[in-house]
Amino acid sequence: MKQMRTEGQLIVLSGPSGVGKSTVIAELLSEHNDMYFSVSFTTRQPRVGEADGVNYHFVDRKQFEAMIANNELLEYAEYVNHYYGTSLKVIQEKLAAGIDVLLDIEVQGAAKVREKCPDAVFIFIIPPSFEELSRRLHRRNSDGEDVIAGRLQKARTEYHEIPHYDYLVVNDKVSTAAAEITSILTAERCRTKHRLHWVDDV
Ligand code: 5GP
Repeated sequence: MKQMRTEGQLIVLSGPSGVGKSTVIAELLSEHNDMYFSVSFTTRQPRVGEADGVNYHFVDRKQFEAMIANNELLEYAEYVNHYYGTSLKVIQEKLAAGIDVLLDIEVQGAAKVREKCPDAVFIFIIPPSFEELSRRLHRRNSDGEDVIAGRLQKARTEYHEIPHYDYLVVNDKVSTAAAEITSILTAERCRTKHRLHWVDDV
C-alpha cells in the first residue's frame, strides 16, 4: 500500500463574534484528535471561563507589538480595539509534520492568510439570522451593550467578505455544523492534487 505523508491541511474558520465558533471547534476537536487548534495571541481580557494558553495566549500590547516587530506572526489584525494574531512557527511545524491546523480568525486576518497560503481551505460560519446572533451575544452575558453593538456592527461589515470564502456553514445546530465541516475536510483530502502519489504509472 502506498503511504506518503503530505503536508497537513490549513483550515481557516471565520464568522461573526457570538456565532458559536468555539463550540463548533470544540465539537470538531473532540471528533478529530489528530487536528491541531492554533491558540491565538490577543490583547483583550479573558472572559469568564477562558484560560490562558487554552482559548488564547493573553498578552499586553507591548508584548504583541514586539511579536509583530520580530515577524513572529503569520497574520494579525485589530478587532474592536484589540490585537489578535496567529503564531507562525507553531503552524509551520504542525503542517510540516502532516497535522491539520485549524485557525479561528476574523476576515482581515483570513485575507492575509489567503495571500500567503493559497492552499488553505476557507470556511465562513453564520448564524441562522442576525436576530439570533444578537440573542447569542446577549446570552453570553460577558460584554456590555456598547461592546455587543460594536460586535453586531462588525458582523455586518464581515458579511461582505463571505464571497471570498470557499464554504459557508450555517450554525443552527452545532452537531450539524461540525458534521458539515468534517465533510468539507474529507472532500479537500480527496482532491486530485492531494492524492497524486496514489496514482500508478501506466
Ligand atoms: P473574540 O474576542 O470573540 O474571542 O474574537 C473576536 C474575533 O477575533 C473573532 O472573529 C475571532 O475569530 C478573531 N480572532 C481570534 N484569533 C485571531 C487571530 O489570531 N487572528 C485574527 N486575525 N483574528 C482572530
